[in-house]
Amino acid sequence: MDCIFCKIVNGDLPSTKVLENDKVLVFQNINPEAPVHVLIIPKKHIASMNDVQEEDLALIGEMHRAAQEAAAQLGIAESGYRLINNCGPNGEQTVFHLHYHLMGGKRLGALTGISPSHT
Ligand code: 5GP
Ligand code: ZN
Repeated sequence: MDCIFCKIVNGDLPSTKVLENDKVLVFQNINPEAPVHVLIIPKKHIASMNDVQEEDLALIGEMHRAAQEAAAQLGIAESGYRLINNCGPNGEQTVFHLHYHLMGGKRLGALTGISPSHT
Protein backbone atom coordinates (compact mmCIF):
# COMPACT_ATOMS: atom_id res chain seq x y z
CA MET A 1 0.00 0.00 0.00
CA ASP A 2 1.30 3.41 -0.95
CA CYS A 3 0.84 5.08 2.43
CA ILE A 4 3.66 7.20 3.85
CA PHE A 5 2.66 6.59 7.46
CA CYS A 6 2.56 2.80 6.91
CA LYS A 7 6.07 3.17 5.46
CA ILE A 8 7.13 5.03 8.61
CA VAL A 9 5.63 2.22 10.74
CA ASN A 10 7.48 -0.39 8.65
CA GLY A 11 10.77 1.53 8.75
CA ASP A 12 10.75 2.05 4.95
CA LEU A 13 10.73 5.82 5.60
CA PRO A 14 12.75 7.44 8.40
CA SER A 15 11.14 9.29 11.30
CA THR A 16 12.19 10.74 14.63
CA LYS A 17 10.33 8.56 17.09
CA VAL A 18 9.08 9.94 20.38
CA LEU A 19 7.22 6.94 21.75
CA GLU A 20 6.30 3.50 20.46
CA ASN A 21 4.42 0.43 21.60
CA ASP A 22 2.95 -2.55 19.77
CA LYS A 23 -0.16 -0.61 18.66
CA VAL A 24 0.79 3.08 18.40
CA LEU A 25 3.68 5.23 17.15
CA VAL A 26 4.39 8.87 18.03
CA PHE A 27 6.91 10.74 15.88
CA GLN A 28 8.03 14.28 15.10
CA ASN A 29 6.13 16.17 12.41
CA ILE A 30 8.46 16.87 9.48
CA ASN A 31 6.92 20.36 9.18
CA PRO A 32 6.14 21.51 12.73
CA GLU A 33 3.67 24.36 13.19
CA ALA A 34 4.26 24.77 16.94
CA PRO A 35 7.31 24.38 19.23
CA VAL A 36 6.01 20.87 20.01
CA HIS A 37 4.22 19.17 17.10
CA VAL A 38 4.18 15.39 16.98
CA LEU A 39 1.91 12.93 15.20
CA ILE A 40 0.16 10.00 16.89
CA ILE A 41 -0.76 7.12 14.60
CA PRO A 42 -2.09 3.59 14.96
CA LYS A 43 0.27 1.00 13.47
CA LYS A 44 -2.79 -0.48 11.78
CA HIS A 45 -3.78 1.33 8.58
CA ILE A 46 -7.07 3.21 9.07
CA ALA A 47 -7.62 5.85 6.38
CA SER A 48 -9.49 8.46 8.42
CA MET A 49 -11.78 9.05 11.38
CA ASN A 50 -14.65 8.06 9.05
CA ASP A 51 -13.18 4.57 8.77
CA VAL A 52 -12.89 3.78 12.49
CA GLN A 53 -14.83 0.59 13.22
CA GLU A 54 -16.27 -0.84 16.42
CA GLU A 55 -13.24 -3.15 16.66
CA ASP A 56 -10.91 -0.09 16.64
CA LEU A 57 -12.37 1.66 19.68
CA ALA A 58 -9.77 0.29 22.10
CA LEU A 59 -7.07 1.42 19.65
CA ILE A 60 -8.46 4.97 19.73
CA GLY A 61 -8.11 4.82 23.51
CA GLU A 62 -4.49 3.68 23.05
CA MET A 63 -3.87 6.74 20.86
CA HIS A 64 -5.22 9.03 23.58
CA ARG A 65 -3.07 7.27 26.19
CA ALA A 66 -0.03 7.71 23.91
CA ALA A 67 -0.90 11.42 23.52
CA GLN A 68 -1.00 11.78 27.30
CA GLU A 69 2.35 10.00 27.69
CA ALA A 70 3.99 11.95 24.86
CA ALA A 71 2.78 15.26 26.35
CA ALA A 72 4.39 14.34 29.66
CA GLN A 73 7.60 13.15 27.96
CA LEU A 74 7.83 16.34 25.89
CA GLY A 75 7.24 18.55 28.93
CA ILE A 76 3.92 20.11 27.89
CA ALA A 77 1.50 18.20 30.13
CA GLU A 78 1.16 21.04 32.65
CA SER A 79 1.37 23.96 30.22
CA GLY A 80 -1.23 22.31 28.01
CA TYR A 81 -1.67 21.28 24.43
CA ARG A 82 -4.09 20.63 21.60
CA LEU A 83 -4.96 17.21 20.14
CA ILE A 84 -6.32 17.53 16.60
CA ASN A 85 -7.70 15.17 13.98
CA ASN A 86 -8.19 16.49 10.46
CA CYS A 87 -10.79 14.50 8.51
CA GLY A 88 -11.57 14.81 4.83
CA PRO A 89 -11.42 17.82 2.49
CA ASN A 90 -12.96 20.45 4.77
CA GLY A 91 -10.76 19.19 7.62
CA GLU A 92 -7.69 19.66 5.36
CA GLN A 93 -6.61 16.03 5.78
CA THR A 94 -3.58 15.41 3.54
CA VAL A 95 -2.31 12.02 4.74
CA PHE A 96 -4.94 9.30 4.65
CA HIS A 97 -3.69 7.25 7.56
CA LEU A 98 -5.50 8.20 10.78
CA HIS A 99 -3.48 10.54 12.99
CA TYR A 100 -3.73 13.07 15.77
CA HIS A 101 -1.59 16.19 15.87
CA LEU A 102 -0.31 16.86 19.40
CA MET A 103 0.68 20.54 19.53
CA GLY A 104 1.94 22.74 22.33
CA GLY A 105 4.87 24.66 23.73
CA LYS A 106 3.18 28.04 23.28
CA ARG A 107 -0.26 29.63 23.56
CA LEU A 108 -2.08 28.32 20.49
CA GLY A 109 -4.91 30.86 20.48
CA ALA A 110 -8.60 30.33 21.01
CA LEU A 111 -10.31 28.20 18.37
CA THR A 112 -12.58 31.10 17.39
CA GLY A 113 -9.40 33.11 16.70
CA ILE A 114 -8.15 30.70 14.03
CA SER A 115 -11.53 30.14 12.39
CA PRO A 116 -11.58 32.09 9.08
CA SER A 117 -15.35 32.68 9.18
CA HIS A 118 -18.62 30.93 9.73
CA THR A 119 -19.97 31.65 6.27
P1 5GP B 1 -2.93 16.27 7.91
O1 5GP B 1 -2.89 17.54 7.10
O2 5GP B 1 -3.24 15.07 7.06
O3 5GP B 1 -3.76 16.34 9.13
O4 5GP B 1 -1.47 16.13 8.49
C1 5GP B 1 -0.42 15.45 7.88
C2 5GP B 1 0.84 15.86 8.59
O5 5GP B 1 1.85 14.93 8.26
C3 5GP B 1 1.36 17.25 8.20
O6 5GP B 1 1.44 18.07 9.34
C4 5GP B 1 2.75 16.97 7.61
O7 5GP B 1 3.71 17.93 8.00
C5 5GP B 1 3.08 15.59 8.16
N1 5GP B 1 3.90 14.78 7.27
C6 5GP B 1 3.68 14.57 5.95
N2 5GP B 1 4.61 13.73 5.45
C7 5GP B 1 5.45 13.42 6.49
C8 5GP B 1 6.61 12.59 6.58
O8 5GP B 1 7.07 11.97 5.61
N3 5GP B 1 7.19 12.53 7.80
C9 5GP B 1 6.71 13.20 8.87
N4 5GP B 1 7.36 13.04 10.03
N5 5GP B 1 5.61 13.97 8.83
C10 5GP B 1 4.99 14.10 7.63
ZN1 ZN C 1 -1.22 3.66 6.29
